[in-house]
Amino acid sequence: MSDTQKINLLNLNRAGLESFFSEIGEKPFRAKQLMQWVHQRGMIDFAHMTDMSKALRETLSLNACIEFPRIGAMQKSADGTRKWLLNVDGTENAIECVLIPEKSRTTLCISSQLGCTLNCSFCATGKQGFNRNLSTAEIIAQLHLVHHSLLNEGQEQGITNVVMMGMGEPLLNFDAVMGAVDMMCDDYAYALSKRRVTISTAGVVPAIKKMNQVTDVSLAVSLHAPNDALREQLVPINRKYPISELLDACRAYIDGYKSRKITFEYVMLKGINDSLAHAQELAKLIGGIPCKLNLIPFNPYPHAIYRCSDKTTIDRFREYVSSKGIITVTRRARGEDIGAACGQLVGQFKDRSRRSQKIKIELEQIRGVSHA
Ligand code: SAH
Repeated sequence: MSDTQKINLLNLNRAGLESFFSEIGEKPFRAKQLMQWVHQRGMIDFAHMTDMSKALRETLSLNACIEFPRIGAMQKSADGTRKWLLNVDGTENAIECVLIPEKSRTTLCISSQLGCTLNCSFCATGKQGFNRNLSTAEIIAQLHLVHHSLLNEGQEQGITNVVMMGMGEPLLNFDAVMGAVDMMCDDYAYALSKRRVTISTAGVVPAIKKMNQVTDVSLAVSLHAPNDALREQLVPINRKYPISELLDACRAYIDGYKSRKITFEYVMLKGINDSLAHAQELAKLIGGIPCKLNLIPFNPYPHAIYRCSDKTTIDRFREYVSSKGIITVTRRARGEDIGAACGQLVGQFKDRSRRSQKIKIELEQIRGVSHA
């Protein structure tokens, strides 16, 4: 059997592995053993999984594989942030993930799609267009590769937090993302607490409702504007799911959980959404919801049509919203020098939505370049 016909076990969460083992006539507990080998010990060669019989190991190598994207490049920022470019499809197509080391935690920012369909007006990923959804294997592989690199470097803990804030909209790749989230939180894999795994969405309301039924990991919502008129310009999916519906879904997500809070993300765009009036409108809007507000200074990229708000404007905005009792922090930009900050991840792939071509023309028009 060639490797392409073999089942990639990295695609299977515990329930999936249990079914797989049942199908080959084995007991379900094999799933836990395999997960410990792969995710906790970083061992991907069946031959070395010594608590399984030789016959089982042979069956596994005939029918299954554990296949990863290939590491294309790794860049390190002056501030310690690292960015990995991972090749998928056995081609030049690549996704990016970013390691953000801090004193008290080590966070990995993971991609969920090769590109993005949402086209938020300030995000570089969207400008590249969209190629395809990532598989569960490609999502969890990002955590596996970076976590085990850190352990191999001698770090004790490896990754402590995951944020699904890389390329793509995680809730538009629901099943694959949830499969990977299961593994992140599984005691036999990465055993991350649900508070330390965050899914960030631009506001796919039906998927937030669905998520509420299958998981209780942390939810971050990219709000970016305090009213529909402005949000529609910045986050086009708002035309489909306006703010009132989005906030209802957020309230429902934390309903019944005492300590749960929604994180609202708000990119600071100079002269666009950063006035005191915007801060007042925002505080009123989210005031009644148990939440935290993360102000994200806009991270520039080539041809961006926005600029970042001034520091004094950001401080004034933060102070006003804080004064209304909402926990508000300004997210420190990390890894800007290697294009690893929020919204700068572009990976490498061919657009299949033809959007990048359209955007190229729009950009040329903005810059006054005539288009023959
Ligand atoms: N699709 C998900 C994950 C996207 S990236 C979502 O929309 O939430 C994570 C965060 O970075 C989002 O809040 C996104 O809006 C923000 N972001 C995108 N481009 C940015 C930029 N250039 N500067 C700062 N933040 C940006």
